[in-house]
Amino acid sequence: MKEQNTGEYDALVDEVEKLRAEIAKLRAEREELQKRVDGFRDEFLEKALEWRGISFVDEACDKCGGSGVVCYGSTATWLGGIGGQAITNGVCDKCWGSGSKLHRWADLRKLRAALSEKGD
Ligand SMILES: [Zn+2]
Repeated sequence: MKEQNTGEYDALVDEVEKLRAEIAKLRAEREELQKRVDGFRDEFLEKALEWRGISFVDEACDKCGGSGVVCYGSTATWLGGIGGQAITNGVCDKCWGSGSKLHRWADLRKLRAALSEKGD
């Protein structure tokens, strides 16, 4: 009886060792896949910026990362003031949609203020 228990114990120990080895192998595979995903993400970001005419990551707007769009905490977006309770995508109020910190597009707040002064 005792020999049978020892045999079962040894078999369980072997099984645990196999499972530990399998876990270590899977963790290594997961790390390798994560590195590939990170590489694809960086490559995609670079291509997306290039598509928007932004040659260098450093040239991308600090606020929107080069997309030209940011999430605002309310439906008021860049206009400010009263807004509904919803996260809303809107044009970035730092680069005004260009995605570049070197070549910002027209400041919509100033444009709006100028139009208000004219009475339009
Ligand atoms: Zn921006």
